[in-house]
Amino acid sequence: MTTRPFNFSAGPAVLPEEVLAQAAAEMLDWQGSGMSVMEMSHRGKEFISIARRAEADLRDILAIPANYKVLFMQGGAIAENAILPLNLSRGGRADYVVTGSWSLKSQKEARKYCDVSVVATNEGDGHTTVPSPSTWALSNQAAYVHVCSNETINGVEMHELPDLKALGSNAPLVIDCSSHIASRPIDWSRVGVAYGGAQKNIGPAGLTLVIIREDLLGHALPVTPTAFDYKVVADNDSMYNTPPTYAMYVAGLVFQWIQRQREGELSGLAAIEARNVAKARLLYECFDTSGFYATKVVPEARSRMNVPFFLPSDSLNDAFLAGAKERGLLQLKGHKSVGGMRASIYNAMPLAGVQALVDYLNDFARRHG
Ligand SMILES: *Cc1c(COP(=O)(O)O)cnc(C)c1O
Repeated sequence: MTTRPFNFSAGPAVLPEEVLAQAAAEMLDWQGSGMSVMEMSHRGKEFISIARRAEADLRDILAIPANYKVLFMQGGAIAENAILPLNLSRGGRADYVVTGSWSLKSQKEARKYCDVSVVATNEGDGHTTVPSPSTWALSNQAAYVHVCSNETINGVEMHELPDLKALGSNAPLVIDCSSHIASRPIDWSRVGVAYGGAQKNIGPAGLTLVIIREDLLGHALPVTPTAFDYKVVADNDSMYNTPPTYAMYVAGLVFQWIQRQREGELSGLAAIEARNVAKARLLYECFDTSGFYATKVVPEARSRMNVPFFLPSDSLNDAFLAGAKERGLLQLKGHKSVGGMRASIYNAMPLAGVQALVDYLNDFARRHG
């Protein structure tokens, strides 16, 4: 294989090279079918087998309990900001925790469909903490409680999901896990719905995953578009309308790739998580010891996936990015709302990529410090 640059994009983002190679090899003729996956009927036996395997493998990786449905949808997490309240709110009240740009957007959109209460926010500290769940002003009337478990733009991650029952709420927890799904296990005993766009950590853009506890199906508001009614989608095995077939196929290859990973005694998601922990540690350690770079998120809330960082002066940003590109380190510019730089180090970013970034960071600091 030729050497590809290391791509630190926040999304659409790096995919495992093995997966891209397999998709390329199967492009013109999927397993003797004479068709590309793109050319197949979603109702034919070939694609049904691809979809079934993708779901089974995802269930295996994330240990999804049998009483949860896996829905393959479209529209991205931003469409879910509307689809979710349409399906779950019953027009009543919903509690939202704001921890960054994405959850801020979610609660804003939900206001079109239900009474939104922001029960905690970290706006006061510039989205750099996770407010302690014991301080959340939860209502016992809420139809659900929404959090973004990894804020892609701000780099804030919930390393433990809240136990709403212990906090006196019977509402299901809904997590937007777009940017860290399949990077670590999910504690399903605490989650009613998990959703996310595929293009950060599991595949190409166009596919949205919704994993929902069965008792939460069947409460959509009458105005809900039929194709976005979770119960309709579930009852039709995600084939009420044409699902994003090619994106599902590639995501399925990524799930198989996750299952193949080994790290010492660990395999599958455990191996991936151990690697993610090691990658994040290496990068944050570089920032913490450099005396040159700054990060803003408090250590307990630092994301393992998205790492915003700042140079001592914005006037160095262009030189930093140009030098990075020369070394094959791509897409490090920060989101415009936060500024500075951001390195997204998703599952498919190898440790060698983070090491190459750290080498460059140290070198740049020596030359400009
Ligand atoms: C990227 C992202 C979104 C938006 O996803 P779209 O696919 O563009 O709709 C929402 N939430 C989080 C946490 C994200 O990372």
